[in-house]
Amino acid sequence: MASRSFLSSRQTGCEPGHGMKLFKKILIANRSEIAVRVIRACKELGIRTVAVFSDVEREALHVRLADEAVCIGPANPAHSYLSIPAILSASELTDSEAIHPGYGFLSENPQFAEACATSGITFIGPAAESMKLGGDKAKARQIMKRRGIPVVPGSDGPVDSEEAALKTAKRIGLPVIIKASAGGGGRGMRIVLEEDELSSAFYMAQREALAAFGNGEVYVEKYLPSIRHIEVQILSDGKGNVIHLGERDCSVQRRHQKLIEESPSPVATEKFRKKLGELAVRAAKAVKYKNAGTVEFIVDQEQNIYFMEMNARVQVEHPVTEELTGVDIIKEQIKIAAGFPLTYKQSQIKPVGHAMECRINAEDPDKFIPSPGKLTLFMPPGGPGVRVDTAAYTGWVVPSHYDSMIAKLIVHAKNREDAIAKMKMALDMFIIEGIRTTIPFHKKVLNHPDFIKGNFGTDFIERMVNPLQSVEVGKNGSTET
Ligand code: ADP
Repeated sequence: MASRSFLSSRQTGCEPGHGMKLFKKILIANRSEIAVRVIRACKELGIRTVAVFSDVEREALHVRLADEAVCIGPANPAHSYLSIPAILSASELTDSEAIHPGYGFLSENPQFAEACATSGITFIGPAAESMKLGGDKAKARQIMKRRGIPVVPGSDGPVDSEEAALKTAKRIGLPVIIKASAGGGGRGMRIVLEEDELSSAFYMAQREALAAFGNGEVYVEKYLPSIRHIEVQILSDGKGNVIHLGERDCSVQRRHQKLIEESPSPVATEKFRKKLGELAVRAAKAVKYKNAGTVEFIVDQEQNIYFMEMNARVQVEHPVTEELTGVDIIKEQIKIAAGFPLTYKQSQIKPVGHAMECRINAEDPDKFIPSPGKLTLFMPPGGPGVRVDTAAYTGWVVPSHYDSMIAKLIVHAKNREDAIAKMKMALDMFIIEGIRTTIPFHKKVLNHPDFIKGNFGTDFIERMVNPLQSVEVGKNGSTET
């Protein structure tokens, strides 16, 4: 394997002790693996941590690993992990200086970011304004379009009536996809193949969006079949330094939910990667973005790139990029929020090898229905190039109230072929007993000839599960994609 250039932050003199101070104590407004991940970064930076938990999570790993822990309410996330007053009280009670929101829950809630500011607590993430834009996809499309960043052909902003949706559909041609402006996690999306389906799809998308996000606003885009979802990780310190950490190919999805992510993308050439990176940096600059973020693109079969959305938080799949670049994204988030300039320059980012992540969910691997319960045995794999981000342990009871992802299995090897071999080994050696998991599903994907060839789009899983079925749209319950 080519030797990785581990860039130490010492090289740039940005660590504490150089005139600026990091936080003394951070509260983590999240649970499960991402809470543990943030605790890890804080420990390395010498920062004390506060965990918050609902009353069914007293035995959770993040509670045990943090320096302090506060119960913030009942199992129902609306009254605990999503409760702004409960979290702010916990942070005041513990004298926390900053809050890391993780992903999902309050991470993209501008009211939360504003409430933190009002209470004098640093929110580790972008400004509320950037978040509002992330949550308003129709507006983000308009801004990017004005800045010359290509977007998928579609409506100019939201569509407020069935007639307006039909007019756009006729202009851009069928099939179209009706999407929620406030959408996330693949919800509030409807594909329209025939004109007579448009009316019901429009109202269904509106209803679903209203129920899921409290905002029924929708917009229309051309539906591009068999596309790739390729996103770019960016870091911006708000002092004019914006860099990208390369792409992640997240095309292995089921019902618009990512299942496997990898980098580099099997279809990316150097030229393509450069263009993608430049577009992502431009998109971030267009909205004066600060902190870590992700710019998501759709790439069609002719390698045309279209802006899809900007995610104003850390992504589930950030470890793929960390493995490839050696950059600790969570530490960078914390440093940026503390007012430090970026640790790295673009020229110092040199991705090495190939990294891949499988999301291990507590679900029936055939039907994808949740399988909560007690882990009678949990033995994660190890060895060189194998990383497991999890908060699970033998004896832990997977709660039924939250997202079903219980572990992320990440591998890093010198090329894609070796990464696949390593992932197969790691999946074989991942022993989880007591509940059902998606490990058998991942094994099937990793053995599929099209996956091995790198020849797949976002419709790959639907075709694999049911070769006759090309398009399937549905709801899901996850908090993040
Ligand atoms: P969310 O924020 O709900 O995850 P996205 O806008 O990121 O929604 O889209 C999720 C997924 O839906 C994409 O990764 C892609 O698979 C599919 N998708 C979105 N827009 C289109 C489109 N115009 N054509 C084809 N597929 C699309």
